[in-house]
Amino acid sequence: MKISVFGFLTLAFLLCVSIPSATSDLASINFLKCFQSKTNLSVSNSSSNVIFTATTSSYTSILQSSAQNLRFVTKSTPKPQLIIRPLGKSHIQAAVTCSKENNINIRIRSGGHDYEGLSYVSHIPFIIVDLSNLRSIKIDIENQIAWVDSGATLGELYHAIAEKSKIYGFPAGTCPTVGVGGHLSGGGMGTMCRKYGLAADNVIDARIVDANGRVLNRKSMGEDPFWAIRGGGGASFGIIFSWKIKLVPVPSTVTMFLIQKSLEQGATKFVQKWQLVANKLSKDLFIRVIIGVADSASGNSNKTIVVTFAAVFLGRREQLLTMMENSFHELGVEQKDCIEMSWIQSVLYVAGFSTEGSYNVLLNRTNTNKSYFKAKSDYVKEPISEKGLEGLWKILIEEESGYMIWTPYGGRMGEISEFQIPFPHRSGNLYEIQYIVTWEAKKETEEHLNWIRRLYGYMTPFVSKNPRSAYLNYRDLDLGINRNENESYGQASVWGLKYFNSNFKRLAQVKTQVDPSNFFCHMSKLTIQMGTEVVHLHTEQKEGKMCMRKLGFVTGNPKFYKSLSGLAICHLQENKAAEVTQPTIKATHIAIEGWISYRRMLEDCSNLEAVLWGLLWGFEMIKDQEMPVVQIINDGTSPLVLRVRFGF
Ligand SMILES: Cc1cc2nc3c(=O)[nH]c(=O)nc-3n(C[C@H](O)[C@H](O)[C@H](O)COP(=O)(O)OP(=O)(O)OC[C@H]3O[C@@H](n4cnc5c(N)ncnc54)[C@H](O)[C@@H]3O)c2cc1C
Repeated sequence: MKISVFGFLTLAFLLCVSIPSATSDLASINFLKCFQSKTNLSVSNSSSNVIFTATTSSYTSILQSSAQNLRFVTKSTPKPQLIIRPLGKSHIQAAVTCSKENNINIRIRSGGHDYEGLSYVSHIPFIIVDLSNLRSIKIDIENQIAWVDSGATLGELYHAIAEKSKIYGFPAGTCPTVGVGGHLSGGGMGTMCRKYGLAADNVIDARIVDANGRVLNRKSMGEDPFWAIRGGGGASFGIIFSWKIKLVPVPSTVTMFLIQKSLEQGATKFVQKWQLVANKLSKDLFIRVIIGVADSASGNSNKTIVVTFAAVFLGRREQLLTMMENSFHELGVEQKDCIEMSWIQSVLYVAGFSTEGSYNVLLNRTNTNKSYFKAKSDYVKEPISEKGLEGLWKILIEEESGYMIWTPYGGRMGEISEFQIPFPHRSGNLYEIQYIVTWEAKKETEEHLNWIRRLYGYMTPFVSKNPRSAYLNYRDLDLGINRNENESYGQASVWGLKYFNSNFKRLAQVKTQVDPSNFFCHMSKLTIQMGTEVVHLHTEQKEGKMCMRKLGFVTGNPKFYKSLSGLAICHLQENKAAEVTQPTIKATHIAIEGWISYRRMLEDCSNLEAVLWGLLWGFEMIKDQEMPVVQIINDGTSPLVLRVRFGF
């Protein structure tokens, strides 16, 4: 069968890139002068291992070393003018200060696993600050904490913990070559998430270089920025170079099983049952589902769907068998299917390594299975029907190298408040879906992108809505990009609400507070950029009004609304697109009930928050207050009820 168990990305490929002559650019020359004067390093001294210009012999290999997605390692991909690999925080400070002085864009790279290449590609002149030299890990078992530098990989972190203790671990992702910096700042989901939440949930302090080149920790940066960098995407806020994390207890023995079912063996029914139970099982039990395409056992060259149920149980075999018997006996897990091992062996197992050998393989920072790939994500709140699954199988079977990973939530994931950190996908989510397709040659790109977008389209009725949510660490630029540096909150909400739901508002506020000049974004108007740089709020009021106008509301004269009382005060005579009642203030929210053509609203003003803001602005219910948080209670064709909450 062609499916890998937990991991993915199956092709090793090396590309040559042309070396740019961009170092002649004045800004980068000035940057270099500045950087050298602040650090006493010289470019000619290659032993410094810090500065790499396009003429440095190792420039290309350093650039490609950790870049994961071959889609962004092509001849035509824009290249950095310089790569800086700091040896300490003073080098990071110098890089920030000098790029600010010389108006050069910075891309921050830790492990290089960004799905859309954002850590090593920019469409305006840029340098890469690559943190791979900064990977110290200090484990303090007595206090159950660790300090880990951003340039360390998850494999190095797991290895360092195992060197000190057999009964502590850390709840982060399953791929050992992923970098700590991007992973923790984007969330970090692994096999212990039902027990302990995300990696970002277990961060207790951090050290960052901010847009002014200052080194800050949790106390000196303040709680809002500290909140933002735990799941809100670090690159919008500064360069985080070290993280203090909570280690978590793990039992000395954990148990694994892998059970595969093809369509012919009733896979659909098993998946249906899994959807009902996986998020309700004991927190110690994580059963992930990987769904892919394989040759049919009938041998007639037909394809089939194969579903792999892959379990990690934080406990002994007998206990697991009892649990499975009580809650998912249909799967038929038997003693012989269950393998007991240590937690660090389970890390190896899940990553596809032998559990017999040394766990030193976790120290290998190079992922040899690089490929072209595209991924997307979704959240599921209601089980998908049998008919829905059957339709899904039909599309999946069309693409041999496409597959899905379904990650169960519930447990600790559902207990943590959706506002605790920027990652909002908590209670109410049954599971998260990751769709992935990989391929081997650039010319195939269009065909595979089309397929995964069609698959995503098919899933629309079955997944979360308003917003259709997505996981930041599975970054997907199809969801929207900032097109210029003055992107409004409303425009950015197109993608921002999907990753962060109502937390996007607070992220934007933090961004405005900590980086008012937008240094960690720094886009020219000509730039096509980027998925998750958080934007400023200055145009929200204008946009709210504009949306109202588009929808037919009379704006500009709030008294118009104020002077009318009772029902249907916002009734537009010539165009009945919008008709709402006077908002009523309740204890926790403001309810506006009435008609708003939902479809029209989305077409005209894709940002619901701005629409509501404008509406409430019209009612003079808010002035300079925060944008409302909007929950759509009913988005059908019958009267729309919108609930609006203020604050968080
Ligand atoms: C093969 C593979 C397996 C994966 N498995 C999992 C998994 O099991 N669970 C999961 O949750 N995710 C997984 N991911 C996704 C992964 O968590 C994200 O891509 C993550 O952002 C990668 O972090 P990085 O440091 O390697 O990436 P990078 O490409 O270096 O960075 C990613 C983003 O974070 C920013 N950034 C990086 N470092 C810093 C820093 N120090 N300060 C500020 N901003 C920074 C970058 O600018 C970029 O925007 C996987 C990805 C791949 C390619």
